[in-house]
Amino acid sequence: MQTGTLLILSAMGFLGLLLSILIFRAASTPLPPPPRRLGSDILEEFSGVEEDLAALIRFPTVSWFEAGREDAAAFTSLPVEVARRWPLIAARTLRREAGDRAILLEWPGTDGSLQPLVLSAHWDVVPADEGWIFAPFSGSVENGEVRGRGAQDTKVTMAAILGACERLARASWNPRRTLFLAFGGDEEVGGIRGAARMAAWFRERGLRAACLLDEGGVIADGLLSFVDRPLALIGTAEKGYLDATVETVGAGGHASMPPRSTAAGSLARAVAALERRPFPPRLVPTVRAFLDGLARYAPFAYRVLFRNLWLFGPLIVESFSSRPSTDALARTTIAFTMLEGSPKENVLPERARANANVRILPGETIATALGRLDRIARSRRARAYAAHEGTASDPSPETLPAGPAWEALNAALAASRPEAGVLPFLFSAGTDSKHWVGLADAIFRFAPILQTPADLSRVHGRDERIAVDEVRRATLFYREFIREFCGPRDATIPRSAAIQEV
Ligand SMILES: [Zn+2]
Repeated sequence: MQTGTLLILSAMGFLGLLLSILIFRAASTPLPPPPRRLGSDILEEFSGVEEDLAALIRFPTVSWFEAGREDAAAFTSLPVEVARRWPLIAARTLRREAGDRAILLEWPGTDGSLQPLVLSAHWDVVPADEGWIFAPFSGSVENGEVRGRGAQDTKVTMAAILGACERLARASWNPRRTLFLAFGGDEEVGGIRGAARMAAWFRERGLRAACLLDEGGVIADGLLSFVDRPLALIGTAEKGYLDATVETVGAGGHASMPPRSTAAGSLARAVAALERRPFPPRLVPTVRAFLDGLARYAPFAYRVLFRNLWLFGPLIVESFSSRPSTDALARTTIAFTMLEGSPKENVLPERARANANVRILPGETIATALGRLDRIARSRRARAYAAHEGTASDPSPETLPAGPAWEALNAALAASRPEAGVLPFLFSAGTDSKHWVGLADAIFRFAPILQTPADLSRVHGRDERIAVDEVRRATLFYREFIREFCGPRDATIPRSAAIQEV
């Protein structure tokens, strides 16, 4: 046989082998059962939780960096309302020593050898500007919706957690594992007085939680066109945060006799250079686990891609960069948000500054991200430094999507939202959970509410609202999660039985 023929034959053999590996890996994806739905009659027993949420919304607990702008009365009276509305659970130990922006409740378990569970939410909100179709703090229940600021972010999870606990306590159920409810009143401005104080309280007592569950991902509906069901995106990691100042220095003076380039010109060149050289993309373990899990719910062609990241990883990263929402999953992002130069039209700037808002991918740190910015800035006669100490945070460690807490989340979703797929997810915004790093074996960021992209646009936006059924279903989720993870599963509380095939 000629060498040419041999070469062609072995190349064909190799391609055949490669193709069979790709197809075998895709075909061996464990597939989920067809989506099922709950009968909505199961939610009847939670009627009333929407009124509790509406009541929380009526407190205008708007966080500001300037403390003088805050409504102090709202912040002192909301905790009083919690004790009034959820009397059984609030009668458990309230840890007042955690400070006035913390509502820390401890429900002691019967088995002291088990590490506690912490359920977290925040009761402050962002400001509401003009143009709402209803009053942002009216807290009304209309057209099957609870309306107002905080309805989605995150008074809904707070009301649902409290509602679940109150109902369990009313049924004389007691947890084996100690349960902490940790509600912070300043998440939107960093969580220093709320979550950080509660975490410190925990640390001082040498406590360590088995699991902390805070806000984060949602049950995303209509996120991906090729998936036939909603996807519960459980944040198993969180990107870091940094505001960096990029600065140039000039001579100042009158603008009538300027040098060829001013500090403003150098700054523009530095900003352009930094935008031209984005951080290199990479697939972190959480995103790999997300894609691997996504294969279960995707058509075969996608399964071939997602189950063979060893080969198609670079191709996927490449396609991620075409959309900001997916690009953020694969790299540290920089967004220039503020510019500042001379204070007057005819005065040359002595300094020009830009603020770069940086979201740091796991695997990097504040220091490495800042180092890269500064290196590139210096090549354009600028420098980069941390804008204000205290608000920067390193990326979180990546929690494995496995173990008893992960299993309990899956069981609670199967009981409350059986039609949803479940996936680990990289959360690119910040949450209070950053203060709890090192104090819990597993940290998950997830709110059990169904959200379309249009719903999500109202978070921090106008006309924030949520369907009454979502509030009730979230309460069912937390009740099932608590019973599953803290135990015991008591037969006297009806299990969500009415699951019907669609
Ligand atoms: Zn929030």
